[in-house]
Amino acid sequence: MNALDTVIQVWWFVLGAVVGSFLNVVIHRLPRGESLVWPGSHCPYCGHSIRWFDNLPVLSWLILRGRCRDCSAPISVRYPLVEAISSAIVGSTAWMVSAGEWSKWLAAMAGMDRAATTMLLQVACFAGFLLTVFVVAAIHWDGEPAPTAVWGPCIGMTVLAYGLMSFWRAERDLPLLSESPLGVAFWVDLIVGTALGWGADMLNRHALQRLNRAKRVEVDSWDWTAATGVGALLWPAPVGIILGTLALLLQGGMSLGKFRASGKNTFSGVKRLHRNRGAVLALWGIANWGLLFLV
Ligand SMILES: [Zn+2]
Repeated sequence: MNALDTVIQVWWFVLGAVVGSFLNVVIHRLPRGESLVWPGSHCPYCGHSIRWFDNLPVLSWLILRGRCRDCSAPISVRYPLVEAISSAIVGSTAWMVSAGEWSKWLAAMAGMDRAATTMLLQVACFAGFLLTVFVVAAIHWDGEPAPTAVWGPCIGMTVLAYGLMSFWRAERDLPLLSESPLGVAFWVDLIVGTALGWGADMLNRHALQRLNRAKRVEVDSWDWTAATGVGALLWPAPVGIILGTLALLLQGGMSLGKFRASGKNTFSGVKRLHRNRGAVLALWGIANWGLLFLV
């Protein structure tokens, strides 16, 4: 690794932290149906707008020692934590896909080489996928259902990248994404993997229904279906089937444990179900992240 490689690699980690700053807004506002762009960040205690130099990912929280500059109210440690995790996801994904050889890739990009474009598409797809799982898990952890629309950008980008990469078959010698587009193994992987994820969503819905008999259950999100579908597209066959099975086992074990623990028809029971779902989604996301280091 030369100096340029290091500078570009550090830039990816910084980019991840900046994205994490936005994800904090998404995690906080999306379940409440609030706008993601307006109003700007402000202290929930004193209402003061947060100055740009107090809004630097991770750093500002450390400099301010976790307190508002205006009223000294404590700022939750989860804000820098979300930024740090996002930084780690984006930085490590860029590193794993590019092998850190950024000056080589830069030269390829200057030569309009398609391999460089597919490499960047893979970074975007995998980082977007892992970040989406992370955001959905965090929203559930807060006891809220995550709107299915959260998956929109990730699904759109994956389908677009998949289409482009199938079209450019010559440059498919990269480590990630299914190797046999449109072959039998690809379709089996996609359909079975997504069906297993759908089964996990049905188990979750059933658990919600049991806990919340008196009220109509609000339509919960299709997290597992979306997650396993995208996972099956991104990973070579049969990893999608393995991930779908893992989703079904994690969700099924959690739902069964829930029935045994309490059949209570309480609001807090539903909140707890969401929190558990957030935890198992996070575990599933970590499994995907770990796979990046194995391929
Ligand atoms: Zn304040």
